[in-house]
Amino acid sequence: MRAGVYRGAGRMPVEEVPEPVAGPRDIILDVRACGVCGVDLHAFNAGDDTLLGQIMGHEFSGAALYVGREVDGIAVGDRLTGLPIQPCGRCRRCLGGAVHLCEVWATRSIAFGLPGAFAERLRIPDAVLGGNVHRLPDHAAFTDGAMVEPTAVAVHAVAQAQPPVGEPAVVLGLGPIGIQAGQVLLAAGAGPVIGVDLSPLRREAGARLGMITIDGAGGLDGIRAGLHAAIGEREVAVVIEASGDARLVPQAIELVRPRGTVVLVALYRRLSEFDAMAAVQREVTLRGSVNVTPPDFREAITLLDQRRVRMPPLITHRLPLAEVEQAFRLQADAASSVKVMVTQD
Ligand SMILES: [Zn+2]
Ligand SMILES: [Zn+2]
Repeated sequence: MRAGVYRGAGRMPVEEVPEPVAGPRDIILDVRACGVCGVDLHAFNAGDDTLLGQIMGHEFSGAALYVGREVDGIAVGDRLTGLPIQPCGRCRRCLGGAVHLCEVWATRSIAFGLPGAFAERLRIPDAVLGGNVHRLPDHAAFTDGAMVEPTAVAVHAVAQAQPPVGEPAVVLGLGPIGIQAGQVLLAAGAGPVIGVDLSPLRREAGARLGMITIDGAGGLDGIRAGLHAAIGEREVAVVIEASGDARLVPQAIELVRPRGTVVLVALYRRLSEFDAMAAVQREVTLRGSVNVTPPDFREAITLLDQRRVRMPPLITHRLPLAEVEQAFRLQADAASSVKVMVTQD
């Protein structure tokens, strides 16, 4: 079969690779859509040598092509998406209940150690319906299904924030995770939700999905002015930092109210410098958020099923597998894309 194979910084040629081989507890998926994620992009741009030869792609959907005889409840032809992370179940983190922080997940998961979904077909190991494999709602397109994983990342981040109902929340960075965090905040009853980004295209997508948006070009003063116009003297209970710009971490701490929560859900290339006293004297809670748990994934499916989050406004580009490298370049251009999908229709 054909797959995009990571061959160093900026290079992902489509090559002929071996067909996946399924065991009795596995599924083979005929991949229909796979999103380009910031995590993939980070490695693609940085030239991470440890990933040479990796088939990336962990935001996928498709139709079951083969179902192992020990897999329950799934039939050939079912429209599916799945959780890429395969925790080991035996390490301290897994035994402590934090399976998404499994000490070895990155060596044994789809697109992290195992082949990913920028490929014609994908093996899902140890498939469990409702666990690491989920049926798509009937109304959902395959591209919607490929958005479930990043939506679950947003569900996880919002859960760290525990947003109070009816209180303002801010999202810094309206990439796919930021926009989904905005939708999940609104679904959780927070509001208004104010999104900040430099890209007019991304602000427009956020606005279509119910957020008030502010151009980040004006820095902290500009955000403060925009916030005042939007919510007057009301205070911000929660800030989700989803831009990955280390300079916005101190701004997030400044923007949140005393006893508010800042959640960092991005990859940072640089160190961040912030006024620790601003956090101390206002008792700000600062939390990191990474990966997703099976309950986050189920919640994301439910939100899609109930149409409380919408996927199509985020999807700006669809490219065939043959153009996966171009898909990465488009995803890297925040001015002209929100979410780029590699599709096989
Ligand atoms: Zn991702
Ligand atoms: Zn583990």
